Amino acid sequence: MALVEIENIRKNFGALEVLKGIDLTIEQGEIVTIIGQSGSGKSTLLRCINALEETSGGEIRIGGQRMAMDMPNLREMRQTVGIVFQAFNLFPHMTIERNVTLAPVLTGKITKAEAPALAEEVLSRVGLADKRKAYPGQLSGGQQQRVAIARCLAMRPQLMLFDEVTSALDPQLVGEVLKVMEDMARLGMTMILVTHEMGFARNVANRIVFMHQGRVWEQGPPAELFANPQTPELQAFLAASH
Ligand code: ADP
Ligand code: MG
Repeated sequence: MALVEIENIRKNFGALEVLKGIDLTIEQGEIVTIIGQSGSGKSTLLRCINALEETSGGEIRIGGQRMAMDMPNLREMRQTVGIVFQAFNLFPHMTIERNVTLAPVLTGKITKAEAPALAEEVLSRVGLADKRKAYPGQLSGGQQQRVAIARCLAMRPQLMLFDEVTSALDPQLVGEVLKVMEDMARLGMTMILVTHEMGFARNVANRIVFMHQGRVWEQGPPAELFANPQTPELQAFLAASH
C-alpha cells in the first residue's frame, strides 16, 4: 500500500477553483518535489494533505486512513504528518529544547522527564544539539529553520511536508537547511517538498511533480523531466527558472 493516496482532490475558495482534481500516490520513503508557478496551488495542496484546509471534493488517505477535517481522529492523524513552512514560528520566550519538546509533552507522547533526551536526539539530527539552552533570537535563520524541522521530528511523523522552507533565508544559509533535508531523505523519511531549489530537486527527489493552474500537469523522475519536458508549460517554467 502507498503511504499517501490522493484521489481527485478539489479545492475552491469561493468561485476560485484552486485545485482541479489532483491524483497522486506516494510510496513509503519516496521524495517528491512539487514545482510550479506562484499561484498554481502547491501550498494549498500541502495544506490539504495535512487537513489544514478543508477540501471541496476527493479523498486523501495516509497509511490507508482518511485525512479530513471531519474525521474524529483528526488530531492523531495530523500528528503523523509534519509540516514546515517558510516562517519558522518558534516561541521566542522558550528555549530551543522547550520549543522542540512542547508538543510531544502536551500530547502525552513523552513525559517531561524524557524531554531532554528527546531534544538531544532530534537536535542532533539537525546538527544543533549544542543549542538546547539557547533562545530562538540567538540563532541564525538557517539554524531556526533547522530547529523547526527538529520540532516536527520530535513528533515522529510518518510523512514530512516542506513548503518553500528556504525561500526566506539569506542565500548563504540555504545550504545547511537543504543538507538536513537530504540527510532525512537518506534515512528513509517520506517527504513532499515545494521548492525553487532545482539542484536539490534534481539530486535528491525521486520524482518531480509540475503543477500548473491547479492540476498535475506533468510528472516523472528528475533526470527525465528536466531533460525532456513534454509540455510547453513545463518548458517555459524550466527556461524561466535557470
Ligand atoms: P502556490 O503555493 O502554488 O503559490 P497557493 O496554493 O498558495 O499557490 O494559491 C493558489 C491560489 O489560491 C492563488 O490564486 C491564491 O491566491 C489562492 N488562495 C490561496 N489561499 C487562499 C485563501 N485562503 N483564500 C482565497 N484564495 C486563496
Ligand atoms: Mg506557496
